[in-house]
Amino acid sequence: MSIEKIGNTEKWNHLELSVVVPLYNEEAVVGELHRRLDLALRGLGVAYEIVFVNDGSKDATAELTAQLVARDPCLRVIHLSRNFGHQAAVCAGIDQARGAAVLVMDGDLQDPPELIPEFYALWKRGWEVVYAVRGSRKERGLKRLGYYLFYRIMAALSDLEIPLDSGDFGLMDRRVVEELKKLPEKKRFVRGLRTFVGFRQVGLEYARSAREAGEPKYTFRGLVRLALDGLVSFSDAPLRLASILGGVAILMALGLGAFTIIDAIWTRTAPPGWASLMTTVLFLGAVQLICVGILGEYLRLIFYETKGRPTYIVGRIDQHAAAESSDSS
Ligand code: UDP
Ligand code: MG
Repeated sequence: MSIEKIGNTEKWNHLELSVVVPLYNEEAVVGELHRRLDLALRGLGVAYEIVFVNDGSKDATAELTAQLVARDPCLRVIHLSRNFGHQAAVCAGIDQARGAAVLVMDGDLQDPPELIPEFYALWKRGWEVVYAVRGSRKERGLKRLGYYLFYRIMAALSDLEIPLDSGDFGLMDRRVVEELKKLPEKKRFVRGLRTFVGFRQVGLEYARSAREAGEPKYTFRGLVRLALDGLVSFSDAPLRLASILGGVAILMALGLGAFTIIDAIWTRTAPPGWASLMTTVLFLGAVQLICVGILGEYLRLIFYETKGRPTYIVGRIDQHAAAESSDSS
């Protein structure tokens, strides 16, 4: 075991940079993605690897990556055994990456590979986490508003200062990666965990372009899920909100109750009381539902964590024949 560990460290030493890209049904962009990555990384002039994570794609992504692997010894493709979702795929890539720095980016070219040298330069200057901050967004309408609100609510409710408008696009030093890998939680909200881990962090602003081709893989529902997971794993404010709301509702109910009793004995001005009764009942019902809902969100996460199931399962790993033989030697 210890020998193997040393072996791994040596591998990290000779690889400066790993670029991790999750791919789910990205047949329309994967060729262009690889071309631009290749260009940007060669320009750096350091030893690098590209780690594609095929997150159970149902289109030709697997075949296309196989063709790329045959040509490019710097490329490895981790095929997950099925679709585990974006965050899990990112984690699979991070776990497999061997570079002294690990960069994570989306596969749809919304995160431009041409920015990699800037990340690299900041890392070389001593920053241990360089995260991208979206200066402008190409998403429109409801989705854009949703993203905007999510990051603001998150900032207001979470104890951690998770940077506004930054996704998973970013670079991490090996030390950060090792700390990240030690965190036991299974439902992983990578950008939150990255903030949690700490070290010297810096933002790099860029203009997020529109998706190059293909469909966005996150449905609106998927995004709401991600937002809730993020909020619930990084803030206990919703839980506290439940108790505060409950407290206020009980005070109001007590006040109303006292008023009704006093009124019934002395003043007798109250009409049959239908209106106030209904409002009270509805209000309390609403508060209870909200509270139960919030509890449910936390329970859901606890439920996931206690099951202890892995974040992802690796089906197989594809790499260039030359890289394979040097690995086993
Ligand atoms: N992705 C993935 N598994 C999924 C969904 C998405 O690996 O189940 C990948 C997808 O291929 C892309 C990245 O995660 O590289 C971001 O997905 P998308 O562009 O749909 O997200 P958005 O840009 O809307 O946040
Ligand atoms: Mg996208």
